[in-house]
Amino acid sequence: VLSIRSVSKTFGARRALDGVSLDVARGEMVALIGPSGSGKSTLLRSIDGLQTIDNGEGFIAAFGDKLQAKGRLTDKVRKSRTRIGFIAQQFNLVGRLSLFTNVALGSLGRIPFVRGLLGQWPKETKLAAMAALHRVGVSDYAGQRANTLSGGQQQRGAIARALVQKAKIILADEPVASLDPVSARKVMEILSELNATDGLTVIVTLHQVDYALRYCKRVVALKAGKKVYDGPSSGLDRAKLIDIYGPEFEDV
Ligand code: ATP
Ligand code: MG
Repeated sequence: VLSIRSVSKTFGARRALDGVSLDVARGEMVALIGPSGSGKSTLLRSIDGLQTIDNGEGFIAAFGDKLQAKGRLTDKVRKSRTRIGFIAQQFNLVGRLSLFTNVALGSLGRIPFVRGLLGQWPKETKLAAMAALHRVGVSDYAGQRANTLSGGQQQRGAIARALVQKAKIILADEPVASLDPVSARKVMEILSELNATDGLTVIVTLHQVDYALRYCKRVVALKAGKKVYDGPSSGLDRAKLIDIYGPEFEDV
C-alpha cells in the first residue's frame, strides 16, 4: 500500500534522510524507531506530503500512485491524503471546538477550513462521528471542548477523526510520547485493535522501544537518516538496540 524508494532529504547541509527505501503492505503495523534526530518525523512528514523530498531518483507512492517524485508533490497527493490520517504528538484537535465537531470535521477530509462549518452536520456524519468516538472509548466527552480534555482523550479523538475521514493508513508521530503510561497503553491498544480488526495500515514512531516491541510485529529503525534495521520485533536483541541507540541504551 506504501512504497518508499531511495528517499533522501537534506535541510541545508544536514541530511535528514539518506537513501531510505521501505515497503509497507496493507494491514501492517510498523514501528519506526531510532535516536532523536534520526529522521523519523521527516519520513512520516514526507509520506504525508507535508514536505518534499530531494530531487533525485527517489519516490514515494501510496495506493499505487506516486505522491512525490523528483522533489515535487504530484497531483495525486491530494487524493491520497484523504486516505491517510496523521496523528502528531500533541495539538491534533482544534481546542475551541467540541470533541464531536473535531471528529465530524474528518468527514470533510484533511485540514478543512473550520470557519463557517459549524452549522448542521448531515445525519450520516453525526452517526459516523458518534460511532468513531464510541469505538475509541471517548463518546462520553463528545460535547466537551477539545482543549479541556486530557492528552489521552485528545489522542483518541484524533484517531476517531481519522476513522471518520475513512483513512486507510494512519501515520502517528510519537502519539504517546506526552501521555502517562496508562493512557499511552490505551492509545497503543486502540491502534493495534484498528489494525487487527479493520485492517488499517499503521506506521507509528515511538521513543519507547518497549512499546514498539510489544505492539508491532515489524520494526524499522533509522539512524542518522539511514535504515539500519527492518524486520520482526523479535529480532531486535540488546546488541542491535545498542548498535542503533548507542552504548547508553537502557530502555528494555
Ligand atoms: P525525534 O525523535 O527527536 O523526534 P526524529 O527522528 O523525528 O527525531 P527528525 O525530526 O526527522 O528526527 O529530524 C531529522 C534531522 O533533520 C534533524 O537533524 C533535524 O534537525 C533536521 N530537520 C528536520 N526538520 C528540519 C527543518 N524543517 N529544517 C532544518 N532541519 C530540519
Ligand atoms: Mg520526531
